[in-house]
This record gives sequence, structure tokens and C-alpha cells, in this order.
Amino acid sequence: MDDCLFCRIAGGKMGTEFVYENRDAVVFADISPQAPVHLLVVPREHVADITSAPPQMLGRLFQAATEAAARVGLDQFRLVVNTGRDAGQTVFHLHIHLLGGRSMTWPPG
Ligand code: AMP
Ligand code: ZN
Repeated sequence: MDDCLFCRIAGGKMGTEFVYENRDAVVFADISPQAPVHLLVVPREHVADITSAPPQMLGRLFQAATEAAARVGLDQFRLVVNTGRDAGQTVFHLHIHLLGGRSMTWPPG
């Protein structure tokens, strides 16, 4: 989708550096990091959010997240999938936040 930011990034149209990528997903740094490591794990295929994602895509996306974590040397991290505006979703192309590099608190705000 030409009007989707993450489609453009995943398609290499924004010049974004990928920390990790595979057949299914690209992983890049969040522009507004909330932890020392804050990456976004983004499927190459456009789906708006987790509710419209096929199960196989979700499996591959979480696999990509754990591979990206290993790639950057994290063995403790948090994965977050904001779904809907009330949950904090601002980009309506499915993505997993991968946060690490500091102690986390619970519950999130
Ligand atoms: P969410 O609010 O869960 O939809 O997450 C969207 C995330 O995308 C936010 O954490 C933003 O900081 C991040 N973001 C927005 N634009 C960019 C961009 N051009 N490059 C990297 N991250 C971005
Ligand atoms: Zn998209």
C-alpha cells in the first residue's frame, strides 16, 4: 500500500536500515525509542492489526522477533502489540515492539 508508512519502509522506499530481515519480516529501530533497544518487527505483507492477521503470519512474525532479539544480543526483552487507538496503536500496519536493555515495570500505562 503506497499510503502506508510501514509498507513503504518494508519495501525499502524510505532508506531505513534493517537490523534484521527475512522472507517474512523486516526489523528496524523505532524513531522514538522507549528503551535502550526499541525495534519494530514488521511483516512485509500489509495487514492493519493482529485481528486481521492469519495465524501463520503471527507465528512467523514472533519467530522473526526472537531472531532479531538474538541478533542484537538480547536474552531478556518485552514484546508488545498495540491493537486499536485506545491501546496506543498509531500505525495501522501490524507490528511487534521489541523492547529491551533495561528493567521493565508492570503494568504498562
Ligand atoms: P504503535 O503506536 O504501536 O502503532 O507504534 C508505532 C511506532 O512507530 C511508534 O513507536 C513510533 O515511534 C514508530 N514510528 C513512526 N514512524 C516511524 C518511522 N518513520 N521510523 C521508525 N519508527 C517509526
Ligand atoms: Zn502497510
